[in-house]
Amino acid sequence: MSRPVRILVVGGGAREHCIVEALRRSHADILAAMGNENPGIRRASKDVLIGDVTAIDRIVAWARGHGADFAVIGPEAPLAQGIVDALLAVGIPAVGPDRAAAQLETNKEFTRDLMREYDIPGLPQFWAFDSFGAFEEWVNDTDMEFVIKPLGLTGGKGVKVWGDHFKTKGEALAYGKEVLEKRIGGAARFLVEERLVGEEFSLQALCDGTRLVFCPLAQDHKRAYEGDKGPNTGGMGSYSDADHRLPFVTPQDYDQAMATMRRTVEAMAARGTPFRGVLYGGFMATRDGAKLLEYNVRFADPECMNVLPILGDDFADLCVRLTEGRLPASASFARLATVCKYVVPTGYGSHPRAGELLKVDEESIRRTGAKLYYAGVDRKGDHLTTTTSRSLAVVGLADDLASAESISEEALAFVSGTFYARRDIGKPEVVERKVERMRHIREGH
Ligand code: AMP
Repeated sequence: MSRPVRILVVGGGAREHCIVEALRRSHADILAAMGNENPGIRRASKDVLIGDVTAIDRIVAWARGHGADFAVIGPEAPLAQGIVDALLAVGIPAVGPDRAAAQLETNKEFTRDLMREYDIPGLPQFWAFDSFGAFEEWVNDTDMEFVIKPLGLTGGKGVKVWGDHFKTKGEALAYGKEVLEKRIGGAARFLVEERLVGEEFSLQALCDGTRLVFCPLAQDHKRAYEGDKGPNTGGMGSYSDADHRLPFVTPQDYDQAMATMRRTVEAMAARGTPFRGVLYGGFMATRDGAKLLEYNVRFADPECMNVLPILGDDFADLCVRLTEGRLPASASFARLATVCKYVVPTGYGSHPRAGELLKVDEESIRRTGAKLYYAGVDRKGDHLTTTTSRSLAVVGLADDLASAESISEEALAFVSGTFYARRDIGKPEVVERKVERMRHIREGH
């Protein structure tokens, strides 16, 4: 009998725990390379390598030595550093783009230029500046509200939005100057975009270079506090509905978002840098249709946890087909709503408190029917403690959103200690307010 397939999974967050769980359903053996010791991933893995996930040579040598058949890369940092190029060089295929294709995430100007050159729908108005004088002149002339975006990876903290992060032209100029002087995002250059008004949604797809297999829509909550207030974070939780759509996204918005992603993938192939991996489109539904805010070149965290747990097909098989350029036309997902809530250290988003005790009653959580995915936790003896990152996520799954949300709450009741979680995510009345808000925006109020 042939041995089970061996898969290298890079990353130690809840997203990667969820990826590992999906691959274990395919009876794969997991080789996990992660920066922190994720207890859920450790338990599910044949072998683990703890250390910096951007130490590419070390990870590739380890994976090769352990006979990895292919790799799935969770986070953006190793993709940006070219881990897929290094894996391919030793004959290990990967679910993840090479460095050239990863530019869709690592260089915002590359993506905007590509959209303009190939006339891809969903492009907001944008400008690029590398001189303060030119920016100052533009700001003084404009009466538009705008957004300032550094070009490279800033962990979600570099983008500043008119009305949210700055309120005057003077503040905008000061931030533009800071980006140029400190090379925020890796370059003395930045983008300015028209400020879009609407509701954000996430569309993820597996992509084999030509074909896209779309996942259900989801919505993330990036702000730290309830009611979408407070500082931006890596994501406090997310939800998806049983029909795989969102009630404030029109069928036209949805079709257009898919067209934006398809046309992008065609353009990448046409310019000789085909995209293989998971493509995430962060969109804004606006009065004028769906606009692309950004691409990520990997599953989003948390939205990965809204789609993989309900995937009906064999995930390892889809991964193999992705790397071989023969994805099927579509994949099946259970018609279930999902609500993902993150447990985070108190103060997360500004001054997170590491070292607080967390008690997780896994067995009781399992009995609620919720999924549990570990993220950044430390172990002290028999106990888990918080780090400065998100600690763990629970995901309720049910026929409708209200029940999925209740299940996520039941599960949270079996986590004790000092922590914070947003309770409003996925609550039907919260979603209803978003539908109302979008109705007003569309009617032009
Ligand atoms: P990005 O890294 O480009 O996704 O930007 C981070 C966040 O900034 C997004 O999730 C949006 O909330 C916001 N944002 C980005 N671009 C725009 C825009 N053109 N108009 C309004 N908000 C934006």
